[in-house]
Amino acid sequence: MHKKYTIAVIGLGLIGGSILKAFSSKDFYLIGVSRSLDTVNKALNLNIVNECSTDINIVKSADIVFICAPISKIIYTIDQISKIVSQDCIVTDVASLKEFVIDHVNGYDSPLNFVGGHPMAGTEQQGIDYAAANLFNGAKWVLTPSKWSKSDSIEKLKDLINLIGGSPIIADANEHDKAAALISHTTLFISQVLFSLVNSYPEKNIKELALRLAASGFRDTTRLAGTNSELAKDMIISNKQNVIKTTYEFKNHLEIMLNNLNSNEIEFTNLIEKLAKNRRKMYSSDGKNIY
Ligand code: NAP
Repeated sequence: MHKKYTIAVIGLGLIGGSILKAFSSKDFYLIGVSRSLDTVNKALNLNIVNECSTDINIVKSADIVFICAPISKIIYTIDQISKIVSQDCIVTDVASLKEFVIDHVNGYDSPLNFVGGHPMAGTEQQGIDYAAANLFNGAKWVLTPSKWSKSDSIEKLKDLINLIGGSPIIADANEHDKAAALISHTTLFISQVLFSLVNSYPEKNIKELALRLAASGFRDTTRLAGTNSELAKDMIISNKQNVIKTTYEFKNHLEIMLNNLNSNEIEFTNLIEKLAKNRRKMYSSDGKNIY
């Protein structure tokens, strides 16, 4: 019988695999669960788990469970977990949206020691092959408590997140989804629109030349358009109301800047100088958010 603090991770993709990789250099007993046997075998071969299976029941003895399945599978997985783990077990998730998760758990008749989570780290890649132990270094990690969250469990979760390089931030689930629409989901949507603008440009010669000339500027502003489509669709559609509202706000800003460009070049120049200054202050030279 193992006595070490036991961490279980369900859904061994980019995020789940990275959590396990990060904890595997520390002194924990690690359990992994994934949908496919192929991924389970990869986790075992990578030596990032003590036990791994496609059977979710192996998390029964866990002290904490990280649910890292796709957004569309989160509720189903929390429901399954709630029937398996002890009342002391801390259950958290990493879904990019928080309100629907917290609302669901708050609706339970009996307690589940659940704290919602969302690490603000990732890449456009998908799957365990792209998992990295340092993915969460310097990354903010949002925690959205549920009505069942025990305060000492929130503290324990914060400690674990700190241990793998993350920086926990407590937020309200509804406000998280609005903020995530602003800096993540609408940004993804606009990146897709920007790529589509060039990719379907009506003048064929110009389009071909532009695609051939495109360098780091276009690469950086359209990077999110390459996000794995399962995650992209889940994030934008599940947060549709906030994304639509934010996109209308974007259109207002576009109008203002377009009007300035058209009729007031001095104002336009002042505006972009101020924007550039604020944008430069937001990130360190190694790309970390220092706001
Ligand atoms: P991913 O690389 O596609 O990994 C998802 C994994 O979940 C897959 O490896 C898949 O396993 C497994 N899975 C699918 N259905 C499952 C089920 N019913 N039970 C157990 N495992 C299941 O996706 P990801 O990018 O890691 O995203 C996972 C979660 O992280 C999502 O909720 C997303 O919102 C959140 N998130 C993602 C990012 C990001 O940038 N990618 C950032 C922050 C948060 P198999 O390989 O075995 O099929």
